Amino acid sequence: MKPDRSTDFLIIGAGFSGLVIAERLSAAGWKCAVVDRRKHLGGNAYDGIDQAGVLVHHYGPHYFRSNSPRIVAYLSAFTDWHAVSYTIKSHVRGRYWSFPINLNTFEEYLGRPAGSEEFRGWLKQNRIPIQNPKNSEQVIVSQIGRELYELFYEGYTLKQWQRHPCELDASVCGRIPVRTNRDDRYLAESFQALPKHGYTALFETMLNASPGVELHLGVESTEARARWKHKHLIFTGAVDEFYGRRFGDLPYRSLRFEPESFSARELRAREPISGKRGFWQPAMQVNYPGPEVPFTRIVEIKHATGQQVGATTIVREFPKDWKLGDEPFYPIPAPEARTSYLRYSALAATEPAASFIGRLATYQYLNMDQVTGMAIAEADKLISRYRSGLKCIRAYAQWTRRITSRNSEENGLHRKACHGTTLVN
Ligand code: UDP
Repeated sequence: MKPDRSTDFLIIGAGFSGLVIAERLSAAGWKCAVVDRRKHLGGNAYDGIDQAGVLVHHYGPHYFRSNSPRIVAYLSAFTDWHAVSYTIKSHVRGRYWSFPINLNTFEEYLGRPAGSEEFRGWLKQNRIPIQNPKNSEQVIVSQIGRELYELFYEGYTLKQWQRHPCELDASVCGRIPVRTNRDDRYLAESFQALPKHGYTALFETMLNASPGVELHLGVESTEARARWKHKHLIFTGAVDEFYGRRFGDLPYRSLRFEPESFSARELRAREPISGKRGFWQPAMQVNYPGPEVPFTRIVEIKHATGQQVGATTIVREFPKDWKLGDEPFYPIPAPEARTSYLRYSALAATEPAASFIGRLATYQYLNMDQVTGMAIAEADKLISRYRSGLKCIRAYAQWTRRITSRNSEENGLHRKACHGTTLVN
């Protein structure tokens, strides 16, 4: 296929990283074509109203959080926020437990009231001292000991990753806080909120504010690369796919979602369990670490979105190994997977006119704010790298406007003189 379109930056992937970098480059005066093989924008953060009228996250829950005022300020240009204290529960031994582990969990474990000091003493006696924990098993047993680790972490992690926690980086389970007070928020970051009208609305506002960006959905990356003449490529998909899997597939975990909706009338019978009218379960997310069910969690996102609607939708999540044709949700945070990735990243590092950003292209278990930060940083680099070219293009546009009244021969000469420098590196 011959190129029949042209742009400054061709961006593969219309998720967080692709749209943020497009917005930044457009704000600096560049033209961007963003393409995605899926028929919607937003990547896995895509959300929308389902058949029951409930706002749902179509690819699993996306709990926005950040410690970076700079990133929050950046995204706040495109959305208002709905503040949320994300709270979850774990379903163990046939009942709901407060999770992540905190003083309430300890009381539930003891079956009687207790204090922080008693809990700290218990942890001191039960944890297994390990300096510099190297994997997810060590990082948890060194904080809470074997019994609580086996109850809440071991089974969940085996289901989620199909690997034992000792085979996974410490950062995987280490991202879950353990507290000796009654703070039962799932996450530790200072800013915790959802885009007030959802992620899709945020991305639409971002695109509307970016006149230099054109979005093409349902387009494969190979087709886009052949079709658009471009100065620089930004790839946000799976890096092994970019290189035709020449060193083999990188491992990913994928997910299958099973949604189920309930009317306001059907939910009445659930009130003794959920504790709230219009809800199916007692928290936004309930984790199921045990082997008695094949799913890892049930998410009822209405708890977090604050949407006022009688019905609700719950989504059961079934992890599975990734195979061709599935969405790759998680890179595997384990040493041998990273070694395989390094062969691809070495190739990517030698590309003079391509950037690789985001969870899949850099094979990292990143949160949305981290991906946003990565996209902004890469945009800054590209803007300064290509700045001289942009100056020339702007000068050329001004010059074209000025000389339209002059004769065509002179016009042609100037055009030729400037042409060679519009695409400088
Ligand atoms: N995890 C666990 N038990 C839980 C929740 C999490 O063992 O009840 C472990 C599991 O390995 C999981 C990791 O902690 O993959 C990170 O959990 P998080 O909820 O942050 O995962 P995500 O929402 O990104 O899937």
